[in-house]
Amino acid sequence: MKQLANNVWKIRGLSNCYLLDVGEWILIDTGAEEEQPKIKEEIESIIPVDKITKVLLTHLHYDHIGNWKIFTNAKFYAHPDAISALAENAFGAVLDQETATSFHAPLEPLTDIHGLKVILTPGHTKGIVCLHYPEKKILFSGDTLFDGTHGRTDFPFSDPKEMEKSLAKLKEIEYDILAPGHDV
Ligand SMILES: [Zn+2]
Repeated sequence: MKQLANNVWKIRGLSNCYLLDVGEWILIDTGAEEEQPKIKEEIESIIPVDKITKVLLTHLHYDHIGNWKIFTNAKFYAHPDAISALAENAFGAVLDQETATSFHAPLEPLTDIHGLKVILTPGHTKGIVCLHYPEKKILFSGDTLFDGTHGRTDFPFSDPKEMEKSLAKLKEIEYDILAPGHDV
């Protein structure tokens, strides 16, 4: 667990999650299911998981949604394009059959919230977003941008051309701290 700002914590894992205290407790992504005990324990060193009231999903790949079930008091948010991709082809949107079958979090459309701005950055998959938090100069970049590289573009809902546009869009964003979905 690493503290990125006075109200932001990074839970490092196979895929990273971020815990934010923004007047309510919110989580960006939920991590991979195989790391559930570790993720739960790290979050609970700060607050009980049932205090988290919103989970913002950068995208719906299995290693980002894998622990949705433990956030029993949370509402779940994803971009409308990701929600429609899931309806169209659940395996293609999630990339793991078991997770695709068992995932039934009611998803609400993700919009700007608590000073976090949604930036749509398709390419790695459809409806994937970054979240910009200007107040703390943090960019939560999901699987679009990693430190020095970017996410894969060879999945069912990937689009390499869209990825190029998305990376160009991110170059215009001002931030000091990159908070990616994976550490590479
Ligand atoms: Zn991904």
